[in-house]
Amino acid sequence: MAGLKRQYLSIPKRFFALAQEMFNVPEKPLGYQEKNSVYFLERVVLVTGGLDSSVLYFRLKKDFPNLRAVYINIGQPYLAKEIIALKQLGIEHETVVDLSFAGYEKNYWKHIIPARNFYFLCLVAEQMKGGIIYFASTDGEMPEVGGDKSKRFLKWTNELFTKLPYPVRIETPLENETKTDEVKWWKENLPIEQLDYTMSCFEAEIGHCGHCQSCLRKAIAYANNGLKLRTNTPILEGTQEYIAKYETLMPEALKKKDFSHYSRRRCIQDLRGIELLEKQ
Ligand SMILES: [Zn+2]
Repeated sequence: MAGLKRQYLSIPKRFFALAQEMFNVPEKPLGYQEKNSVYFLERVVLVTGGLDSSVLYFRLKKDFPNLRAVYINIGQPYLAKEIIALKQLGIEHETVVDLSFAGYEKNYWKHIIPARNFYFLCLVAEQMKGGIIYFASTDGEMPEVGGDKSKRFLKWTNELFTKLPYPVRIETPLENETKTDEVKWWKENLPIEQLDYTMSCFEAEIGHCGHCQSCLRKAIAYANNGLKLRTNTPILEGTQEYIAKYETLMPEALKKKDFSHYSRRRCIQDLRGIELLEKQ
């Protein structure tokens, strides 16, 4: 298409504003505008049964009763656990199944599934007729750059999604909160016995394994709130490797004031949480 400027090949940013303008005539049927503006306000939260997305779901549900929850099944090994968690928590959701990622665990990216969040966001955006996707990314796990939770990733994805036929915006309402803050909120707002139902463990075994990094983070958040997470392997024993990592990197980050990876609050809270875990 030599000679054509790129802008003519993409969907105009104001496509829907333009459509609304054209149909906004006195002859329009009664109630036309109202009906058609509804889809623009669709609100969807991606749920996994984990602590972050469950807190986000319950918090938003109060303000937006029509909130849709979507769970994505990519054949993850901990699928059954997540589905049980969602059921126990009473999070009503739709499921999107896409098994093209199945077998990703053989790719040696540790617990990371590269590009997973981008892929999930695209799958959900595709299900929507415009609106907002709420994404449960918390303080201390949104670096400026690097990976599909980074601020740059979200900025670029948002830029891309405004160009969709039905424009979608991604919001991260938990970006200034840590897992410790989330557990505190849960204690104040929801039945505490349900907190154990949330499940973010990376292992397929029943319950919290006690040796994955996700279990350590949850145990720290519990400890900081005077609670003890029940795990299959004692947490201090199972997560020595990660505790050693935090105890090296976090004091270093605080000393150098380098919060590009872990936020200041997360460093302080996690180091305090580890001390508390050692006393449990
Ligand atoms: Zn675990």
